[in-house]
Amino acid sequence: MLNLDFHPSGRHFLQIPGPSPVPDRILRAMSLPTIDHRGPEFGALGLELLGKIKRVFKTENPVIIYPASGTGAWEAALSNTLSPGDRVLMFETGHFATLWQKMARRLGLEPEFIGLPGDEGWRHGVQADMIEARLREDRDHGIKAVCVVHNETSTGVTSDIAAVRRAIDAAGHPALLLVDTISGLASADYRHDEWGVDVTVSGSQKGLMLPPGISFNAVSDKAIEASRHNAMPKSFWAWDEILEANRNGYWPYTPSTNLLYGLNEALDMLLEEGMEQVFARHQRWAAGVRTAVEAWGLEVQCQDPAVYSPVLTGVVMPEGVDADAIRRIIYQRFDLSLGTGLGKAQGKMFRIGHLGDCNDLTLIATLGGCEAGMKLAGVELKGSGVAAALEYFAEHPLKGDA
Ligand SMILES: *Cc1c(COP(=O)(O)O)cnc(C)c1O
Repeated sequence: MLNLDFHPSGRHFLQIPGPSPVPDRILRAMSLPTIDHRGPEFGALGLELLGKIKRVFKTENPVIIYPASGTGAWEAALSNTLSPGDRVLMFETGHFATLWQKMARRLGLEPEFIGLPGDEGWRHGVQADMIEARLREDRDHGIKAVCVVHNETSTGVTSDIAAVRRAIDAAGHPALLLVDTISGLASADYRHDEWGVDVTVSGSQKGLMLPPGISFNAVSDKAIEASRHNAMPKSFWAWDEILEANRNGYWPYTPSTNLLYGLNEALDMLLEEGMEQVFARHQRWAAGVRTAVEAWGLEVQCQDPAVYSPVLTGVVMPEGVDADAIRRIIYQRFDLSLGTGLGKAQGKMFRIGHLGDCNDLTLIATLGGCEAGMKLAGVELKGSGVAAALEYFAEHPLKGDA
């Protein structure tokens, strides 16, 4: 049994960078009765949401939806486009880029993992010039795909995907461009078609504000063409049968009916607000949170202001302070969940999620929990981050704020 007694009163603060809090409006939509996934109502729902989701990916092409976590959609992207033994160029931005690279290896691909030296890679975004230089050397076009993470959730760094596209084109290289925006979609600006992405991978539990459980592949014509000839065995992940059934709003197997109710509602919420306003809201929260970190006298993990993540902020602890011990205090005392340091960053930082169904006050409370927790643990802070963020939010109203 889940120990609900632990949460004595009020709401749990789920401030990890995914899953993000699920709005009541989405929970209500998901609570409707499960219907026949081959019946007429379902087909109408399927067509409606398959149409609307394209607007969030900014694509005219189909978006494939899987009943799987984001990891499944990673595998789908690789197994639909590549063949065993293919070389793929991947860029080390953090833990998630590393995991995708491990998956490529397990699938029989030959990933070449490049990045900045030492710990620098985990504090900066993808370096498009390094990709261009590597592709220029690859004169026989042995590299079949370039794989990058748009919003690196382990560090709080967002990469410039348009620059990666330009790098591939400048090198005159035919490699496919595969992008993971599992945590970027619907929080950070993303343009599948305009940026010339061949497969975009995303998931439900981050910017889309849904519970975990569904994930996505947006595709280009070139990617679909590759899927007709590639030699990687694929069945569950194969696009062809899904695209065929999707024409009429159905799936070849039982889809996650209630999560799709939630997705339809989430798409309405996002499109009613307008994607530009959604992005502005996230940028503003991120800036407020960074103002707090600066006031504490601490460092953010991202070292390049041009690519600060609007989705989450990695807060680096002073030398000798165990970030996970602080997270535990904050969880136990304030019922507030923060993201742990992943992989190489374990124990060195915690991550504050500021995505989806938040508002200024949930973030002020979150910063309050961080500030109080660090003080309890004896971390010396230069000043009050909470006060600094309050001031930032007051001085930077969002369009439409009174
Ligand atoms: C969350 C996340 C994943 C993994 O998704 P799951 O739903 O946990 O399988 C992969 N990449 C990035 C960038 C993520 O944020």
